[in-house]
Amino acid sequence: MSEILRKQFLQHVGQTSPAPMMIEVERAEGVFFYTPEGKPYYDLVSGVSVNNVGHANPVVVEAVQRQAADYMHVMVYGEMVERPQVEFARRLAEALPAPLESVYFLNSGAEAVEGALKLAKRYTHRTEMISMRCAYHGSTHGAMSMMGAPEGEEWKNAFRPLLPDTKAIRFNCEEDLMQITERTACVLCEPVQGEAGVLPPQADYLQKLRERCTEVGALLIFDEIQTGMGRTGEMFAMTKYGVTPDIVCLAKALGGGMPLGAFVSSREIMQSLTHNPVLGHITTFGGHPVCCAAGLAAMKFLQENRVVEDVERKGALYEQLLADHPAVKEIRRSGLLLAVELGSSERMFRMMEMFAEEGIMSDWFLYCDTAFRISPPLVISDDEIRDSVRIIRNCLDRL
Ligand code: PLP
Repeated sequence: MSEILRKQFLQHVGQTSPAPMMIEVERAEGVFFYTPEGKPYYDLVSGVSVNNVGHANPVVVEAVQRQAADYMHVMVYGEMVERPQVEFARRLAEALPAPLESVYFLNSGAEAVEGALKLAKRYTHRTEMISMRCAYHGSTHGAMSMMGAPEGEEWKNAFRPLLPDTKAIRFNCEEDLMQITERTACVLCEPVQGEAGVLPPQADYLQKLRERCTEVGALLIFDEIQTGMGRTGEMFAMTKYGVTPDIVCLAKALGGGMPLGAFVSSREIMQSLTHNPVLGHITTFGGHPVCCAAGLAAMKFLQENRVVEDVERKGALYEQLLADHPAVKEIRRSGLLLAVELGSSERMFRMMEMFAEEGIMSDWFLYCDTAFRISPPLVISDDEIRDSVRIIRNCLDRL
C-alpha cells in the first residue's frame, strides 16, 4: 500500500479502532480477496457473516447491474410498488414459518432492531424490553440499550443515557425467564449468540423462552442478523431449533453483499405501524431496489444450488480437522459459524499476527477475545476448507 493512501485513510476516513487491519483490497472473488500486490487472503470472516454466496458472485453482480440500469431510488420506502422488493419479500415469507409474512426493509441490522423494538412497543402498549447478557444487536442508541449487561456495560457507559426500562437476563438460563412478565413488551434474543463467542442454545431453552413470552403476552424477537440466510445450516436458525418468534430481524447476508436489513412479523402485528400514528416507522432508502435485487439473487442462488444443505457438513469438517490440535481448547459451532477457543487472548492475538502474514482473514468476537472466528462464505469448497486448515494448523504449531 502506498504511504499516501495509508495517510489519507487514517486522516480522512473516520476511525473507531486504534489499530485498524489496514489491508488494501483490490478485488475479491469466491472465498478470497486480493491486495494490489496480488496477495490472496482466505476470507474466513465474510465481512462478519455477510458474503454467504461468495465474493463477486456472478448472479448477484448481474442483478445489481441490471437493476441499477433500470432504476435506483425513486421514493421513500413503502409508497411505490417496486418489483425487486415485492419478489424478495414474497420469497422470504415463503421460506419463513407462518405467520412471519410481512417484511419491512431497512438499510442495516441496527435499524432492523430499532424497527422491531418500536413495533413491539406499539403493538403491546408496554415499555419494558428484555435482552440477553453478552448480546450484540447494533450500535445505534436503541440497539445499544439492548447490549446485554454486565459484559456490555463498558461499551455503553460513555453513551448514556440510553433507553429506559431495559434489562438483560442470562442466555440459556431457565430461572431468569420468570423475569419476563405482563410488563414486558418484548424479549430480544439471538438464537445462537454470535459476539459472545458462538453460544448455541441449550436443549429446549428457546422453546421455554417462547412459552414464557406467550404466557405473559410479550413479543419474542429473534435477531437472526448473523445467523440468517443459511449460516447455521438452515436458511434461518429458528427452523433449526424449531421455535417461531413474533418478529425476526435480518440483515448482513440478506442483501447478498449490499446493505439491507429487515424486520419481519405477521401482517396483523406489522399493520399497527399504519395508524395511531400513521407512518409508525419511516426510512428513505430502506428496501433500495438495487439491494433487494441483489438479496433476491443471492437467496435464489442459495436455494437453487442447495448451498445451505451442505453447510452443516462443511462446518463439521472444519471442526473435525481442527479439534485434535493440542492448542485448541474447544470449538463452539453452529453450521459454518465457529469459535476456535485458544484459552487466552495473548494466544489469540498472536494467531491474528500470523494469519495476517499467512493470508488468512479471521478475527475475534466482541465479548470473547480468547477465540478466533471461522465464518467463511458458505460456498467454500472442501479443498478450500482443507487448504485453509493446513495454514491454520501451521500457525497453531507456531504458537
Ligand atoms: N445483530 C447481530 C447479531 C449482529 O451480529 C450485528 C452486527 O454485527 C448487528 C445486529 C448489527 O448489524 P449492523 O452492523 O448491520 O447494524
